[in-house]
Amino acid sequence: MKHLPCVLIVEDEPAIAELISVNLRHSGFRPVWAMDGITAQAEINAVLPDVILLDWMLPGESGLLLAKRWRAHPRSKAVPIIMLTARSEEFDRVAGLEAGADDYIAKPFSTKELIARIRAVLRRRSPEQDVAVVTLGQLGIDPATYRVTFDNQPIKLGPTEFKLLHYLMTHAERVHSRSQLLDKVWGDHVFIEERTVDVHVKRLREALGEPAAAMLETVRGAGYRITTQTH
Ligand code: CA
Repeated sequence: MKHLPCVLIVEDEPAIAELISVNLRHSGFRPVWAMDGITAQAEINAVLPDVILLDWMLPGESGLLLAKRWRAHPRSKAVPIIMLTARSEEFDRVAGLEAGADDYIAKPFSTKELIARIRAVLRRRSPEQDVAVVTLGQLGIDPATYRVTFDNQPIKLGPTEFKLLHYLMTHAERVHSRSQLLDKVWGDHVFIEERTVDVHVKRLREALGEPAAAMLETVRGAGYRITTQTH
């Protein structure tokens, strides 16, 4: 299963939201629509998006205020924000960027350009989302194709197990606490219990099977690590 980047569209005009959604879906994104700040906040609390497209003029709180708040909040501060606006004056661009937006696009815009901007902020914001193939012993992971192999045999993983394995493999031999893994793999742990990590480690081990699963060690009282020094 491929992880589709989630784009939260905060836009009060259904026709525009629909147009953006259709184009995002065609380009391999998973759009989520919120028509105001309150709905958008609920979406962010439930699942952290990879990018937020934020309309400037909204009923209730303006896009500018929302951008400021999300940028200041630990849960959402690293999520790239692209402001959408019908205005195009230099003043607005500066105000938007000062509020913490990563980019700015004026309506009417071409959906091609919008998608190019989304890809650009994702690249800039996520240098850690490395697409290089990582190998550790006989275990290989390829983030570009979403493939995991052991001894050249394919292994099927769910998206969370894939992310967890990728993080552990790119930070091999080190011990990671549950809290650190929640931070790095889940993005934050405000709404998730540490026990969740154990559940996904168990699933990951089951998916890997022996002997690969032996590389994923539990370090009592400390956390987990992936290692080639199995014993
Ligand atoms: Ca609007």
